[in-house]
Amino acid sequence: MTDTVRNVIIIGSGPAGLTAALYTARANLQPLVIEGLEAGGQLMLTTMVENFPGFRDGVMGPELMTEIRAQAERFGAETIQGNVTAIDLGQRPFTVRTTEQAFRCQALIIATGASARLLGLPSERSLMGHGVSTCATCDGYFFRDRPIAVVGGGDSALEEAIFLTKFASHVTVVHRRDALRASKIMQDKAFANAKISFAWNSVVADVKDTGKGEVTGIVLEDTKTGETRELQVDGVFVAIGHTPNTTLFAGQLEMDANGYLVTRQGSRTSLPGVFACGDVQDHVYRQAITAAGSGCMAAIDAERYLESLS
Ligand code: NAP
Repeated sequence: MTDTVRNVIIIGSGPAGLTAALYTARANLQPLVIEGLEAGGQLMLTTMVENFPGFRDGVMGPELMTEIRAQAERFGAETIQGNVTAIDLGQRPFTVRTTEQAFRCQALIIATGASARLLGLPSERSLMGHGVSTCATCDGYFFRDRPIAVVGGGDSALEEAIFLTKFASHVTVVHRRDALRASKIMQDKAFANAKISFAWNSVVADVKDTGKGEVTGIVLEDTKTGETRELQVDGVFVAIGHTPNTTLFAGQLEMDANGYLVTRQGSRTSLPGVFACGDVQDHVYRQAITAAGSGCMAAIDAERYLESLS
């Protein structure tokens, strides 16, 4: 363990964490960012981002993250690779342990994000950003007049399917059962939409075509009969839910029923000195720009908290 007590440690390096780093660095707090296993966050899994203000021709997700990181580092933010394995919020200063080191800090900003649940197919991973997506708002525009599939039967799946009908020629919702989990109102909207049809009792067994490096179709397996068939689509949106990355904080910070950190009065968690921003505390908006905005809020809240200590 180092003897130094840091002003602020930020866990996570997506738009929320790196914006918090930029603001705390500019406040002269010399923040330490621990990047986490998926450095750069979910934007590293996308290609073109067209809805982040300031880029009239769009920007590649990984490039955007490289830029925000460089901008934060220019003002003195320190970033280290590493995965946080344990956190002790029971006494102050707080202790944050990675596999290699332990750090202490007065204020902690949690920006660990949420991970979109995936089907777990190798072809899904390899075609992510090349026809496979977990974000209709981000990628729907690329599927103008093309057939696509949405996987899932909850509110997210139907919301994405309905949104995607603005672009796609047709949307097939693939659901593993014959009844939807989504709310009645969303079901009614989806059933009334002429561009949406359903593949019931079906799971995606494979995404084609890894050889071509683009999506040309999906192999559907009937959960009742085991029969398979191929559905021609140019895109697949996986909308089977998100999991907030909050395991480390279990029993230490207040969470909602789905495991998201509860924030009040801006970015304050249930423990003074601990702030949360981005998707780890937001299951509603989940956009890069809202994550960045909440990262700014967390930085300002942390700065004011540190001022109150002195
Ligand atoms: P969800 O309600 O947990 O639904 C996930 C869906 O994905 C379920 O239909 C589930 O099937 C399916 N699924 C899960 N794992 C799967 C797998 N491995 N393979 C195939 N299918 C799988 O998640 P969500 O839709 O993201 O919603 C999360 C919360 O946000 C909910 O409370 C929802 O109401 C809320 N939300 C609300 C709105 C809105 O009000 N406009 C919009 C979005 C989300 P089963 O049904 O068989 O379990």
